[in-house]
Amino acid sequence: MPTSYRATNRGDTASTKTTSQSTDTNLASKDASVGDILASKGNAIFSIRPQDTIGHAVEVLRDKRIGAVVVTDANGALVGILSERDIVRKLADTPGKTLPHKVEDVMTKDVQTISADETLVSALQMMTNGRFRHVPVTDSTGLIGMITIGDVVNHRLSALEHEALQMKQLIVG
Ligand code: AMP
Repeated sequence: MPTSYRATNRGDTASTKTTSQSTDTNLASKDASVGDILASKGNAIFSIRPQDTIGHAVEVLRDKRIGAVVVTDANGALVGILSERDIVRKLADTPGKTLPHKVEDVMTKDVQTISADETLVSALQMMTNGRFRHVPVTDSTGLIGMITIGDVVNHRLSALEHEALQMKQLIVG
């Protein structure tokens, strides 16, 4: 917690000087990691199989109230990601005939993943550059969670609120 600002008095030694701002909060938000988000939201991962139908996928998206689902093989290895955007595109391409299609024909196969120790800034850069809103989190054992752009923005907003409160405390003491 930063100490409250006090104007320097005559007689103060350099070491007793206080500062109006601490870098603690800025550093905290810059260093916030993907793992911090998983720590608050948990490690739930909803997955489907490549051979499942789009009909099944839309039920999972509805029931779990999510916008994308990872696709895994029988060993649990990540083989794709299917988002509501992929389904909308398929709906436009095959009107009235989309639901029986296989997930593997509609999903994105080249999935970009992130590790828990990456910063939130790099997660945002990945999502912005790749134009997607979901990133599976992996470690050496495989999938350990999923973060969305909404999670990152919410986390940042909470950090900003915290910083604003700290600023207020600095000002009013
Ligand atoms: P989204 O914005 O996440 O709904 O996804 C937009 C498009 O990007 C869809 O075609 C998804 O299949 C694809 N996509 C979503 N997440 C990823 C990811 N982490 N890596 C690669 N492609 C993705």
